[in-house]
Amino acid sequence: MKVDLIIHNCNLIATMASGGRPKRGKEMNDAGIVTNGAIAIKNGKIRYIGKSDEIMNGVTSNSYVDAYGGIVTPGFVDPHTHPVFVHTREKEFAMRLAGATYVEISKAGGGINSTIETTKNADFELLLKLAKQRIRRMISMGTTTLEAKSGYGLDTESELNQLSVIGALQFSLPIDIVPTFMGAHEYPMEYKNDHAAYIKILTEEMIPAVVEQGIAKYCDIFTEAHVFNIEESRHVLLFAKAYGLKLKMHADEIEPMGGAELAAELRCTSADHLGAASEKGLIAMRNANVAAVLLPATLFSLGAKSYAKGRFMIDSGLIVALATDYNPGSCNCDSMPMVMTLACLKMGFTPIEALAASTINAAYSIGMADHKGSLEVGKDADLIIWDIPSLDFIPYHFGSSHIFKVFAKGELVHRA
Ligand SMILES: [Zn+2]
Repeated sequence: MKVDLIIHNCNLIATMASGGRPKRGKEMNDAGIVTNGAIAIKNGKIRYIGKSDEIMNGVTSNSYVDAYGGIVTPGFVDPHTHPVFVHTREKEFAMRLAGATYVEISKAGGGINSTIETTKNADFELLLKLAKQRIRRMISMGTTTLEAKSGYGLDTESELNQLSVIGALQFSLPIDIVPTFMGAHEYPMEYKNDHAAYIKILTEEMIPAVVEQGIAKYCDIFTEAHVFNIEESRHVLLFAKAYGLKLKMHADEIEPMGGAELAAELRCTSADHLGAASEKGLIAMRNANVAAVLLPATLFSLGAKSYAKGRFMIDSGLIVALATDYNPGSCNCDSMPMVMTLACLKMGFTPIEALAASTINAAYSIGMADHKGSLEVGKDADLIIWDIPSLDFIPYHFGSSHIFKVFAKGELVHRA
């Protein structure tokens, strides 16, 4: 048997193997370790995985990569990002530190509306160039699959433009990108007092156009007291579902308003944030196999005192995933290793649980667990070679990178 590539001399491979299922409860602490391992890759997929000497003796290859005794993990799956926008908002960060409130920032020309204003009329090429730069940084941090949302246009034309940018990113970058339509990110200024009119546009104009063009897999909505309430969310999501889109929610981030319960009722693929979700809602999510995507970097960036009940969720058997929530406002973090650190320090995850939540469970939360998120025969060869002594080192030593090489579908996409 001849393959395209063998990665050998791996001190340890954390396969995160799960047979294509997400990990729950105690399974999250099982990294599926292979010591002194190697991985044989053909046509971008894993053909063999096992002991280095067995694979080196039994399989020939066109090329070889020496891991120099490093550690190999699956590439990160980042299942919640907002990378398509024009300007960054570090000025607001400084204003927040100086004590400015959300309303004051908004009045000074900041906030989500400032992002919508510049992104809405931006041309395709500019948005593509900027998003590509951002995602290249994510790749250098080990991300090999991500979900990306529209939602900084809030009219049909600009939402479609942003989704086309996400489609073009998929073609021009070497990793897989899952597109999500998020026209329900906020009410446009002109509809602040007429929600029904905007919901009519969302359901009668935007969702049909998005589906007709086939440029989104998911429909997401911001369900929160100051944005879309439960009834409005149910209405929009049921519409999207009827049109064949899969569902996601930004739910119960700040106030417990029944978002988790609604995600369970509608069988969403995931509900994200959940900083204030009720335990009853979380248990309903568990029973409905709705992934809980937690975004601790957002709460960290906002200086929050409390975090989502990650420990409770894992112990209760929910499918728990982690994401960066990369966006220009509340969280300008593109590093999944940093998110792992915060999950450990702020929500009581073990390092291996944080790794499971960033790989196989994150893949489940965007419908990709059958070919992403773990190192198993037949799956895409998306992986990271780390220059670290143990898996615990990933969240332990935060703030700098220990990544030696990143591969996506068997191709080298980043080297230190
Ligand atoms: Zn978000």
